[in-house]
Amino acid sequence: MPGADLDAIVADIAGTLARAEDWGEVASYIPELAKVDPAQFGIAIATADGRMLVGGDADTGFSIQSISKVFALTLALGKVGDQLWDRVGREPSGNAFNSIVQLEQERGIPRNPFINAGAIVVSDVNLGSYQPRVAIGEILRFIRYLAGDDSIAINGEVAASETATGFRNIALANYMRAFGNVHHAADLVLGLYVHQCAIEMSCRQLALAGRYLMLNGRHPDGGRVVPPGRARRINALMLTCGQYDASGDFAFRVGIPSKSGVGGGILGIVPGRASIAVWSPGLSPSGNSHLGTQALEMLAQRTGWSVFSPP
Ligand code: GLU
Repeated sequence: MPGADLDAIVADIAGTLARAEDWGEVASYIPELAKVDPAQFGIAIATADGRMLVGGDADTGFSIQSISKVFALTLALGKVGDQLWDRVGREPSGNAFNSIVQLEQERGIPRNPFINAGAIVVSDVNLGSYQPRVAIGEILRFIRYLAGDDSIAINGEVAASETATGFRNIALANYMRAFGNVHHAADLVLGLYVHQCAIEMSCRQLALAGRYLMLNGRHPDGGRVVPPGRARRINALMLTCGQYDASGDFAFRVGIPSKSGVGGGILGIVPGRASIAVWSPGLSPSGNSHLGTQALEMLAQRTGWSVFSPP
Protein backbone atom coordinates (compact mmCIF):
# COMPACT_ATOMS: atom_id res chain seq x y z
CA MET A 1 0.00 0.00 0.00
CA PRO A 2 1.70 3.25 -1.13
CA GLY A 3 2.24 5.71 1.75
CA ALA A 4 0.06 8.48 0.36
CA ASP A 5 -2.92 6.13 0.00
CA LEU A 6 -2.66 4.89 3.55
CA ASP A 7 -2.41 8.47 4.83
CA ALA A 8 -5.59 9.35 2.98
CA ILE A 9 -7.40 6.25 4.26
CA VAL A 10 -6.46 7.01 7.89
CA ALA A 11 -7.51 10.68 7.52
CA ASP A 12 -10.80 9.63 5.95
CA ILE A 13 -11.60 7.08 8.67
CA ALA A 14 -10.77 9.59 11.43
CA GLY A 15 -12.82 12.31 9.71
CA THR A 16 -15.82 10.05 9.09
CA LEU A 17 -15.92 8.66 12.61
CA ALA A 18 -15.46 12.08 14.23
CA ARG A 19 -18.89 12.88 12.75
CA ALA A 20 -20.49 9.69 14.09
CA GLU A 21 -23.92 10.00 15.67
CA ASP A 22 -23.86 6.81 17.71
CA TRP A 23 -20.71 6.55 19.86
CA GLY A 24 -21.90 3.56 21.92
CA GLU A 25 -22.00 3.42 25.73
CA VAL A 26 -18.93 3.77 27.96
CA ALA A 27 -18.34 0.93 30.44
CA SER A 28 -19.92 1.89 33.74
CA TYR A 29 -19.22 -1.15 35.93
CA ILE A 30 -15.78 0.32 36.68
CA PRO A 31 -16.89 3.73 38.05
CA GLU A 32 -13.73 5.55 36.94
CA LEU A 33 -14.27 4.48 33.29
CA ALA A 34 -17.84 5.82 33.35
CA LYS A 35 -16.38 9.35 33.61
CA VAL A 36 -14.71 9.20 30.16
CA ASP A 37 -16.28 11.35 27.41
CA PRO A 38 -17.53 8.91 24.74
CA ALA A 39 -17.15 11.41 21.88
CA GLN A 40 -13.50 10.60 21.16
CA PHE A 41 -11.82 8.55 18.46
CA GLY A 42 -8.17 7.84 17.73
CA ILE A 43 -6.23 5.63 15.34
CA ALA A 44 -2.52 4.86 14.94
CA ILE A 45 -0.82 2.47 12.53
CA ALA A 46 2.80 1.35 12.86
CA THR A 47 3.83 -0.27 9.58
CA ALA A 48 6.39 -3.01 9.10
CA ASP A 49 8.55 -0.58 7.10
CA GLY A 50 8.76 1.76 10.09
CA ARG A 51 6.14 4.40 9.31
CA MET A 52 3.61 5.74 11.81
CA LEU A 53 0.26 7.07 10.65
CA VAL A 54 -2.12 8.73 13.08
CA GLY A 55 -5.59 10.26 13.06
CA GLY A 56 -8.03 11.79 15.54
CA ASP A 57 -7.19 11.51 19.25
CA ALA A 58 -4.17 9.27 18.64
CA ASP A 59 -2.17 10.78 21.50
CA THR A 60 -4.85 10.72 24.19
CA GLY A 61 -4.18 8.14 26.92
CA PHE A 62 -6.86 5.57 27.74
CA SER A 63 -7.19 2.54 29.97
CA ILE A 64 -5.96 -0.45 27.99
CA GLN A 65 -7.91 -2.89 30.21
CA SER A 66 -8.11 -6.30 28.53
CA ILE A 67 -5.59 -5.43 25.83
CA SER A 68 -3.05 -5.92 28.63
CA LYS A 69 -3.95 -9.62 28.46
CA VAL A 70 -1.90 -9.93 25.25
CA PHE A 71 1.25 -8.64 26.94
CA ALA A 72 0.58 -10.63 30.14
CA LEU A 73 0.13 -13.81 28.08
CA THR A 74 3.40 -13.13 26.26
CA LEU A 75 5.21 -12.81 29.61
CA ALA A 76 3.59 -15.93 31.09
CA LEU A 77 4.51 -18.03 28.04
CA GLY A 78 8.08 -16.80 28.47
CA LYS A 79 8.05 -18.07 32.05
CA VAL A 80 6.32 -21.47 31.76
CA GLY A 81 6.12 -22.12 28.00
CA ASP A 82 3.51 -24.61 26.80
CA GLN A 83 2.83 -25.77 30.36
CA LEU A 84 0.48 -22.81 30.51
CA TRP A 85 -1.94 -24.78 28.32
CA ASP A 86 -2.45 -27.33 31.12
CA ARG A 87 -4.19 -24.54 33.03
CA VAL A 88 -5.83 -22.45 30.30
CA GLY A 89 -7.68 -23.54 27.14
CA ARG A 90 -7.47 -22.15 23.62
CA GLU A 91 -11.10 -22.17 22.54
CA PRO A 92 -13.40 -19.20 22.00
CA SER A 93 -15.80 -19.03 24.92
CA GLY A 94 -18.99 -17.87 23.21
CA ASN A 95 -19.71 -16.23 26.56
CA ALA A 96 -19.29 -12.78 28.04
CA PHE A 97 -15.83 -11.65 29.13
CA ASN A 98 -16.58 -12.09 32.83
CA SER A 99 -18.62 -15.28 32.59
CA ILE A 100 -18.32 -17.96 35.27
CA VAL A 101 -20.64 -20.60 33.77
CA GLN A 102 -18.12 -22.72 31.85
CA LEU A 103 -15.75 -22.98 34.81
CA GLU A 104 -18.07 -25.39 36.59
CA GLN A 105 -18.25 -27.85 33.67
CA GLU A 106 -14.58 -27.49 32.84
CA ARG A 107 -13.25 -27.98 36.36
CA GLY A 108 -11.78 -24.54 36.82
CA ILE A 109 -9.89 -24.48 33.48
CA PRO A 110 -10.86 -21.27 31.67
CA ARG A 111 -11.62 -21.49 27.95
CA ASN A 112 -8.87 -19.10 26.84
CA PRO A 113 -6.37 -16.54 28.21
CA PHE A 114 -8.40 -13.53 27.01
CA ILE A 115 -11.57 -13.99 29.04
CA ASN A 116 -11.24 -12.68 32.58
CA ALA A 117 -10.94 -16.14 34.16
CA GLY A 118 -8.10 -17.07 31.79
CA ALA A 119 -6.30 -13.78 32.35
CA ILE A 120 -6.55 -14.29 36.11
CA VAL A 121 -4.74 -17.65 35.74
CA VAL A 122 -2.13 -15.89 33.57
CA SER A 123 -1.70 -13.32 36.37
CA ASP A 124 -1.29 -16.18 38.85
CA VAL A 125 1.58 -17.47 36.68
CA ASN A 126 3.14 -14.03 36.31
CA LEU A 127 2.92 -13.46 40.05
CA GLY A 128 5.08 -16.54 40.65
CA SER A 129 7.00 -15.92 43.84
CA TYR A 130 6.94 -12.11 43.46
CA GLN A 131 5.08 -9.57 45.52
CA PRO A 132 2.29 -8.04 43.35
CA ARG A 133 4.20 -4.73 43.24
CA VAL A 134 7.23 -6.40 41.67
CA ALA A 135 5.13 -8.36 39.17
CA ILE A 136 3.30 -5.16 38.19
CA GLY A 137 6.67 -3.48 37.66
CA GLU A 138 7.74 -6.34 35.40
CA ILE A 139 4.75 -6.05 33.07
CA LEU A 140 4.98 -2.27 32.97
CA ARG A 141 8.68 -2.46 32.06
CA PHE A 142 7.89 -5.04 29.37
CA ILE A 143 5.25 -2.81 27.76
CA ARG A 144 7.55 0.25 27.96
CA TYR A 145 10.29 -1.76 26.22
CA LEU A 146 7.90 -2.95 23.49
CA ALA A 147 6.65 0.59 22.84
CA GLY A 148 10.08 2.20 23.36
CA ASP A 149 8.40 4.68 25.69
CA ASP A 150 9.20 5.00 29.40
CA SER A 151 6.40 7.47 30.03
CA ILE A 152 3.74 4.72 29.97
CA ALA A 153 2.21 4.43 33.45
CA ILE A 154 -0.60 2.96 35.50
CA ASN A 155 -3.66 5.06 36.31
CA GLY A 156 -3.96 4.52 40.07
CA GLU A 157 -7.53 5.85 40.21
CA VAL A 158 -8.74 3.31 37.66
CA ALA A 159 -6.96 0.51 39.55
CA ALA A 160 -8.50 1.63 42.87
CA SER A 161 -11.92 1.94 41.27
CA GLU A 162 -11.80 -1.61 39.90
CA THR A 163 -10.35 -2.99 43.15
CA ALA A 164 -13.29 -1.51 45.05
CA THR A 165 -15.92 -2.96 42.72
CA GLY A 166 -14.43 -6.07 41.09
CA PHE A 167 -16.50 -8.60 43.02
CA ARG A 168 -17.02 -10.82 40.03
CA ASN A 169 -13.30 -11.18 39.38
CA ILE A 170 -12.78 -11.99 43.08
CA ALA A 171 -15.41 -14.72 42.67
CA LEU A 172 -13.69 -16.06 39.52
CA ALA A 173 -10.28 -16.18 41.25
CA ASN A 174 -11.66 -17.93 44.33
CA TYR A 175 -13.71 -20.36 42.26
CA MET A 176 -10.64 -21.40 40.27
CA ARG A 177 -8.63 -21.58 43.49
CA ALA A 178 -11.14 -24.13 44.76
CA PHE A 179 -10.19 -26.28 41.73
CA GLY A 180 -6.48 -25.74 42.40
CA ASN A 181 -6.02 -23.67 39.22
CA VAL A 182 -5.20 -20.42 41.02
CA HIS A 183 -2.37 -20.81 43.51
CA HIS A 184 -2.23 -17.41 45.19
CA ALA A 185 -4.81 -15.64 47.32
CA ALA A 186 -7.38 -13.75 45.26
CA ASP A 187 -6.33 -10.31 46.52
CA LEU A 188 -2.71 -10.89 45.44
CA VAL A 189 -3.57 -12.19 41.95
CA LEU A 190 -6.14 -9.47 41.40
CA GLY A 191 -3.72 -6.85 42.68
CA LEU A 192 -1.58 -7.69 39.66
CA TYR A 193 -4.49 -8.17 37.25
CA VAL A 194 -6.27 -4.91 38.10
CA HIS A 195 -3.08 -2.85 37.83
CA GLN A 196 -2.10 -4.32 34.47
CA CYS A 197 -5.62 -3.50 33.21
CA ALA A 198 -5.23 0.08 34.51
CA ILE A 199 -2.14 0.78 32.38
CA GLU A 200 -2.83 3.88 30.34
CA MET A 201 -1.60 4.22 26.76
CA SER A 202 -2.38 6.25 23.66
CA CYS A 203 -3.12 4.69 20.28
CA ARG A 204 0.38 5.67 19.16
CA GLN A 205 2.00 3.91 22.14
CA LEU A 206 -0.19 0.84 21.75
CA ALA A 207 0.51 0.47 18.02
CA LEU A 208 4.24 0.66 18.82
CA ALA A 209 3.91 -1.94 21.59
CA GLY A 210 2.19 -4.38 19.20
CA ARG A 211 4.95 -4.35 16.59
CA TYR A 212 6.58 -7.60 17.77
CA LEU A 213 3.42 -9.45 16.80
CA MET A 214 3.50 -8.13 13.23
CA LEU A 215 7.26 -8.78 12.98
CA ASN A 216 7.17 -12.51 13.68
CA GLY A 217 8.19 -12.01 17.30
CA ARG A 218 11.00 -9.50 16.78
CA HIS A 219 11.29 -6.08 18.38
CA PRO A 220 12.06 -3.48 15.68
CA ASP A 221 15.38 -2.87 17.47
CA GLY A 222 16.37 -6.39 16.34
CA GLY A 223 15.90 -8.18 19.67
CA ARG A 224 13.77 -11.30 19.82
CA VAL A 225 10.70 -10.92 22.04
CA VAL A 226 9.18 -14.33 21.29
CA PRO A 227 9.96 -17.13 18.82
CA PRO A 228 8.08 -16.84 15.49
CA GLY A 229 5.78 -19.76 16.28
CA ARG A 230 4.69 -18.11 19.53
CA ALA A 231 3.89 -14.81 17.80
CA ARG A 232 1.79 -16.76 15.29
CA ARG A 233 -0.10 -18.52 18.08
CA ILE A 234 -0.76 -15.31 20.01
CA ASN A 235 -2.15 -13.81 16.80
CA ALA A 236 -4.32 -16.92 16.34
CA LEU A 237 -5.74 -16.50 19.85
CA MET A 238 -6.40 -12.82 19.19
CA LEU A 239 -8.37 -13.75 16.09
CA THR A 240 -10.41 -16.53 17.70
CA CYS A 241 -10.84 -15.14 21.23
CA GLY A 242 -9.88 -11.45 21.17
CA GLN A 243 -13.38 -9.90 21.12
CA TYR A 244 -15.10 -12.11 23.67
CA ASP A 245 -18.37 -13.56 22.40
CA ALA A 246 -18.24 -11.30 19.32
CA SER A 247 -14.98 -12.86 18.05
CA GLY A 248 -16.66 -14.76 15.22
CA ASP A 249 -18.53 -11.72 13.98
CA PHE A 250 -15.36 -9.64 14.24
CA ALA A 251 -13.38 -12.18 12.16
CA PHE A 252 -16.17 -12.09 9.59
CA ARG A 253 -16.32 -8.28 9.43
CA VAL A 254 -12.65 -7.41 9.92
CA GLY A 255 -10.44 -10.52 9.61
CA ILE A 256 -7.54 -9.01 11.57
CA PRO A 257 -6.29 -10.64 14.81
CA SER A 258 -7.31 -8.11 17.44
CA LYS A 259 -7.74 -7.68 21.17
CA SER A 260 -10.25 -5.28 22.65
CA GLY A 261 -10.60 -3.76 26.11
CA VAL A 262 -13.55 -2.19 27.92
CA GLY A 263 -11.66 1.12 27.93
CA GLY A 264 -12.60 1.23 24.21
CA GLY A 265 -9.21 0.36 22.73
CA ILE A 266 -8.49 -2.37 20.18
CA LEU A 267 -5.05 -3.59 19.12
CA GLY A 268 -5.05 -5.23 15.68
CA ILE A 269 -2.16 -7.09 14.06
CA VAL A 270 -1.74 -7.60 10.32
CA PRO A 271 1.24 -10.00 10.24
CA GLY A 272 4.12 -8.65 8.19
CA ARG A 273 2.34 -5.36 7.57
CA ALA A 274 0.92 -3.34 10.40
CA SER A 275 0.27 -2.98 14.11
CA ILE A 276 -2.91 -0.94 14.50
CA ALA A 277 -4.44 0.70 17.57
CA VAL A 278 -7.89 2.26 17.55
CA TRP A 279 -9.74 3.79 20.46
CA SER A 280 -13.19 5.12 21.09
CA PRO A 281 -14.57 4.69 24.62
CA GLY A 282 -18.19 3.90 23.67
CA LEU A 283 -18.87 0.16 23.55
CA SER A 284 -21.34 -2.00 21.68
CA PRO A 285 -23.45 -4.46 23.71
CA SER A 286 -20.71 -7.12 23.32
CA GLY A 287 -18.31 -4.87 25.27
CA ASN A 288 -16.10 -4.00 22.29
CA SER A 289 -15.46 -0.45 21.07
CA HIS A 290 -18.33 0.49 18.78
CA LEU A 291 -16.45 2.94 16.55
CA GLY A 292 -13.15 1.12 16.98
CA THR A 293 -14.68 -1.95 15.37
CA GLN A 294 -16.14 0.18 12.59
CA ALA A 295 -12.74 1.79 12.02
CA LEU A 296 -11.02 -1.58 11.66
CA GLU A 297 -13.75 -2.79 9.33
CA MET A 298 -13.32 0.31 7.13
CA LEU A 299 -9.53 -0.10 7.21
CA ALA A 300 -9.69 -3.78 6.25
CA GLN A 301 -12.07 -3.04 3.39
CA ARG A 302 -10.01 -0.19 1.99
CA THR A 303 -6.54 -1.69 2.39
CA GLY A 304 -7.44 -5.32 1.73
CA TRP A 305 -5.60 -6.15 4.97
CA SER A 306 -6.90 -9.39 6.42
CA VAL A 307 -5.40 -12.74 7.35
CA PHE A 308 -7.94 -14.24 4.93
CA SER A 309 -6.83 -12.34 1.81
CA PRO A 310 -3.63 -12.77 -0.21
CA PRO A 311 -1.04 -10.01 0.44
N1 GLU B 1 -10.44 -5.07 34.05
C1 GLU B 1 -11.61 -5.44 33.30
C2 GLU B 1 -12.36 -6.55 34.01
O1 GLU B 1 -11.75 -7.42 34.56
C3 GLU B 1 -11.16 -5.88 31.92
C4 GLU B 1 -12.32 -6.27 31.05
C5 GLU B 1 -12.13 -5.90 29.60
O2 GLU B 1 -11.38 -5.02 29.22
O3 GLU B 1 -12.79 -6.54 28.78
O4 GLU B 1 -13.55 -6.55 34.03
